[in-house]
Amino acid sequence: MKEGKLIVFSAPSGSGKTTIVQHLLKQNDLNLAFSISATSREKRGEEIHGRDYHFISVEEFKDHIKNDDFLEWEEVYHNNFYGTLKSEVERIWSEGKHAIFDIDVVGGLSIKNKYPDRTLAVFVEPPSLEEMERRLRNRNTDTEEKILERVAKSKREMKFSPDFDEILVNDDLERAKKEAYLMVKKFIKN
Ligand code: 5GP
Repeated sequence: MKEGKLIVFSAPSGSGKTTIVQHLLKQNDLNLAFSISATSREKRGEEIHGRDYHFISVEEFKDHIKNDDFLEWEEVYHNNFYGTLKSEVERIWSEGKHAIFDIDVVGGLSIKNKYPDRTLAVFVEPPSLEEMERRLRNRNTDTEEKILERVAKSKREMKFSPDFDEILVNDDLERAKKEAYLMVKKFIKN
């Protein structure tokens, strides 16, 4: 294949982006591999170390920062660090695949800035802020305090949508999945 690409799906938490990314990963013709982020947050529910995230301590995270191991990183929530390791993207490219990212809005835009031509940056827009809050509550994995922190962050993030290559409105999940597939298919062909 030609050079590996970077497919970024960013969105306010609760917009349904993870479901869309998981759907795309199942489409073998797209040849995608998930970029597993490192995080210092606690494991939630069914998550698996090395599949959903590399769960590491705050100390380990800070060592990676010092060693310049990250393509991008952020303290997304207080004391909860998240970042994309350069080694992760290199691993995916060396396997002949394109990397797909499920990361927050600021992280998504920093990847786009680093690799402007090789990145497709998609902003997944929730149908409404009320719906997004409802989805976060339905997930049943977070405390009320965490939910409110996420809702506040999501409101701030909505303002960044015009900086992305594409905006995907997730009002109808089946339609959004199809549209996402077509966007990625077209981008990786070029
Ligand atoms: P969660 O705790 O719900 O898994 O993730 C919280 C937020 O951090 C989500 O918006 C998620 O996409 C984002 N995130 C996950 N990995 C990364 C990463 O490597 N870098 C950045 N900047 N954000 C990330």
